[in-house]
Amino acid sequence: MKNALYIGTVSGIKIFIHWTFLILIGWIVFSNLSRGLGGEEILWSVIFILTIFACVTLHELGHALAAKRFQIKTRDITLLPIGGVAQMESMPEKPGEELIVAVAGPAVNFIIFIILFFALPQPASPEMEQLQHIGPANFLYALMVVNMWLALFNLIPAFPMDGGRVFRALLAFRMDRTRATRVAAGLGQLLAMGFIFLGLFYNPFLVFIGLFIFIGAQAEAQQTETQSMLRGFTVRDALLAEVPGIEADATIRSAADQLLQSQNKYFVVNNAGKPEGTLGRDEIIKALGELDGEAPVRQAMRKDVMYLSPTMPIEEAWKMMQQQDQPFALVTSKGEIVGALDTDNIAEFVMIRSAEQGKKGK
Ligand SMILES: [Zn+2]
Repeated sequence: MKNALYIGTVSGIKIFIHWTFLILIGWIVFSNLSRGLGGEEILWSVIFILTIFACVTLHELGHALAAKRFQIKTRDITLLPIGGVAQMESMPEKPGEELIVAVAGPAVNFIIFIILFFALPQPASPEMEQLQHIGPANFLYALMVVNMWLALFNLIPAFPMDGGRVFRALLAFRMDRTRATRVAAGLGQLLAMGFIFLGLFYNPFLVFIGLFIFIGAQAEAQQTETQSMLRGFTVRDALLAEVPGIEADATIRSAADQLLQSQNKYFVVNNAGKPEGTLGRDEIIKALGELDGEAPVRQAMRKDVMYLSPTMPIEEAWKMMQQQDQPFALVTSKGEIVGALDTDNIAEFVMIRSAEQGKKGK
């Protein structure tokens, strides 16, 4: 993830903190100052937030290390003010494996909760339960409570929470994955509407959580639907046979003209008959704003050309393109360019397939 500060590597997984995290710290300092708290109290609350995020990191590492057992790599973990995000290469599709990976995160928080529960005197003193002010007296107690909530919150059975994946995995033992996703996403959206409704009356924060879950459920259902529609097909089935080309010395303005005058959105940039890069609509528009229109397209192109083989499963190609943020790839066979693949084309392929399937179902 961009705009993030690297803080370390654990078991081959890079850990980053997103810069917006500073806003959270700033907000805590500011709101504590405006409540009239002193320097020492503010310091404790900042240390507390950092400790919570250390627990969030352990949560994400829980997922990542469980995934590693199933040969799924995690590229990095980024901490955002709303929580952590582990960039896994994929999610296991076997229900048993997905269940383990999804549960592993909340399990970490639950273990921290249990350890603190037994380490701390029971019952807690009234002083410890005063959670408005975090200080040495109630620090560990508050950390215990937060970890309990982190485990419970993440187990809400709705995407994008871990609970949504747990629920899908449980359903997938009995039905196919696409249907399981649809059912789980449906329940998630129902819960989301419940949150939004309650939030309107009680706490605006619930509205925010509700919207977050609603959008997450939709995205997950879409993702799985696309995957299932692509299954069993190869790159060749969605191939764009004609690849529009442009010379590396051609001007950016001439590329913009080609964009306007044709349906093409992506071009291969050639130099002496060999592909040197690719150029898409976004790069052209960006270059027009930043560079001179007379500058050569070489200055605007993407140099990291992605090559695919026509026999590669299209599902795999689609995942690779998502992971590397590449909307366009060249397809080669025996060293020759035989066509191209772009994400719009994959989307059209999915639409055609689902329309055909809908007809068959009737
Ligand atoms: Zn999680």
